[in-house]
Amino acid sequence: MQTPIQYVVFGGTFDPVHNGHLITARALADKLGYDCVNLMPCGDAYHKAGVSSALHRLAMLNLALAEDSKLILDAQETERSGATYTVDTLLKLRQQLGDNAHIAWVMGADAAETVQKWHNWQTLFQLANVIVVARDNEVPVDLSHWPAKCVTESIEFKKQPAGCYMLLALEPVAVSSTQIRLKIKNQETVENHVPQSVIDYIEQHGLYRGEN
Ligand code: ATP
Repeated sequence: MQTPIQYVVFGGTFDPVHNGHLITARALADKLGYDCVNLMPCGDAYHKAGVSSALHRLAMLNLALAEDSKLILDAQETERSGATYTVDTLLKLRQQLGDNAHIAWVMGADAAETVQKWHNWQTLFQLANVIVVARDNEVPVDLSHWPAKCVTESIEFKKQPAGCYMLLALEPVAVSSTQIRLKIKNQETVENHVPQSVIDYIEQHGLYRGEN
């Protein structure tokens, strides 16, 4: 029997992409045995003001992902206009990949705690599974109210098209895009946190200096 398609999505703003995103996505693929993880930047970021254009965020992701064949860019949310709701993206993915595909949406523990505020949040679990990445040092989140089954075995999890969630503890990587933007604005170095190709792009385009 043919193995169903596995599609893992790590969504975010990626303004800019940093090593926390890259190391986490890579560790997740390795730990759960996925061939690849798709990094999906949001388009019109209705929930965040002053976000860089999708063009810049995509360009930086392209540069960052060029060195890792397990990390793939999925630009579909940036190709839609208006608010990009996760549930709409998942519906589209489900239509593209078919009923049997294993779809997993990755979110941090912070996002998992507020997922009930997302547009049509309960439908998420009819369309996909969720991987909650908890950093090793974080207090575990209580997700018992989710309309989904908690699965602890990766083999079992990867057989599920939708409706399940898994908690995955990973080494914390202490960096955020907010910190990166602030450091650049203050003319501090970010070389330990962002790939050099992305730093070069930021410099070439004068991003995050506070003037644009
Ligand atoms: P900002 O500081 O602008 O809010 P961010 O660094 O949190 O940005 P996002 O693009 O908003 O980055 O996040 C995309 C995804 O990456 C989210 O699921 C978030 O939880 C996760 N993430 C962000 N930083 C890290 C990190 N250092 N380690 C692991 N996951 C991270």
